[in-house]
Amino acid sequence: MVDMICDYYSTVGQQRVKPGVEPGFLRGQLPASPPEQPEAFEDVLRDVQEKLMPGVVHWQSPSFFAYFPSNTSFPAALADMWAGALSMIGFSWAASPVSTELEMAMMDWLAELCGLPAAFRCNGGAGPGGGVIQGTTSEAVLVALLAARARALRGRVQADKLRLVAYSSDQAHSCFRKACMVAGVDHVRMLPTSAEHNWELQPEVLQAAIDADLAAGLLPCFVMATIGTTSSCAVDPVARLAPVAARRVSNGLGRAGGCGAWLHVDAAYAGAAALLPEQRSAHFGDLGAVDSYSFNPHKWLLVNFDCCALWVADAGPLKEALSLTPVFLQATGNALDYKDWQIPLGRRFRSLKLYFVLRMYGAEKLRAYLRHHIALAAAFAAALQADPRFELAAPQRFGLVCFRLRDVPRQVNAALLEAVNASGRLLIIHTELGGAYTLRLAVGSASTQLEHVEAAWEVIKGAADQVLRQHAE
Ligand code: PLP
Repeated sequence: MVDMICDYYSTVGQQRVKPGVEPGFLRGQLPASPPEQPEAFEDVLRDVQEKLMPGVVHWQSPSFFAYFPSNTSFPAALADMWAGALSMIGFSWAASPVSTELEMAMMDWLAELCGLPAAFRCNGGAGPGGGVIQGTTSEAVLVALLAARARALRGRVQADKLRLVAYSSDQAHSCFRKACMVAGVDHVRMLPTSAEHNWELQPEVLQAAIDADLAAGLLPCFVMATIGTTSSCAVDPVARLAPVAARRVSNGLGRAGGCGAWLHVDAAYAGAAALLPEQRSAHFGDLGAVDSYSFNPHKWLLVNFDCCALWVADAGPLKEALSLTPVFLQATGNALDYKDWQIPLGRRFRSLKLYFVLRMYGAEKLRAYLRHHIALAAAFAAALQADPRFELAAPQRFGLVCFRLRDVPRQVNAALLEAVNASGRLLIIHTELGGAYTLRLAVGSASTQLEHVEAAWEVIKGAADQVLRQHAE
């Protein structure tokens, strides 16, 4: 199996990034029922190669530039093998002391590498804040919202739940809306952004929305800012949004009661760039007033899916929202029990892959890795800007470049995307920015080198020749 994986990595760059299969391709290739008797490993592996691999989109291809990257590495995969072999369910300290304690330590290591505020450190469980590994950002945003809701409802009546409001920009990931759906927060404001401000949420816009909701008798409870939006890697000005979010809403119980809205920062993809001091000072600013912060090392930090790092400055509201201890889970002592920081009870030993990756790469190599991708994206953006047929649709940030053919109807850009992807030589996706069809190329696959970015540019230029010729005819 390990040989097969090594062969795969050495040839994946030559394969079509996206397979040519249609929905239902697997039906008919598999027996209708599971086998009654055990089958040989070799037979299973053969079917993996012959029947399953044709349906794989090669996210690990060096020419995969779609969505955001989904990194993996040998250290991470080996750690996951060991974690799978141990298969411990570390819901509490007692159920798996090492899972809990390694996770606390790794979240502190990662917080230090990213220059996050001291309030986010676990300090061995001693502080009010700390970090926890969730599966995905969607889960992290949901638990942050549940904590925000618990804090906002302190000292209030049940009916006040219906008055809670959550805010983000219209560029926020759909996981924000989904979290509101699940948490039963019905007043959801996705506030307008514009090209003029590079699709960033402006504090005055948030302020006006909060003022209007307060005047209408509603309760602002949660603000989600994004560092690195999915469409264009826009960076909301967190430090300037924080005082607006923090304005206290009285709950009628005097000075002790009431609180401001909880501020969560979603840095799902771009958060890895906080390892770089120059990116940190350019884009992350002061996170000191943030209540919670999350990013996915599984996107761009060589840790395989799933691994979302979430930190809170005060875990109290999180535990108020999520803590429940049936008699069969009761344990003595006051150790940190991660079941109170997440929705499921069970949890994997995910910190092991962070431990392997952080140790076997070291901070210096990780920084070089990230800088390499940012430089490749800059090289692509420069080539694009030197071609007068194209325009950048947003400033290049991190590893993402958003672009389009200028002065053509949207269907010409849609045709460009189709032609590029039909080549099979790379994969990109599109988005909408201010209603304009926009192509996006995200550099970040672990094996991507300059030659792959240059080859991608050649394919894109060739496809542009073709669609512009067809458009002119
Ligand atoms: N937030 C941002 C900015 C994203 O780009 C994404 C996915 O790409 C998500 C959230 C959702 O991430 P997850 O799949 O971890 O829930």
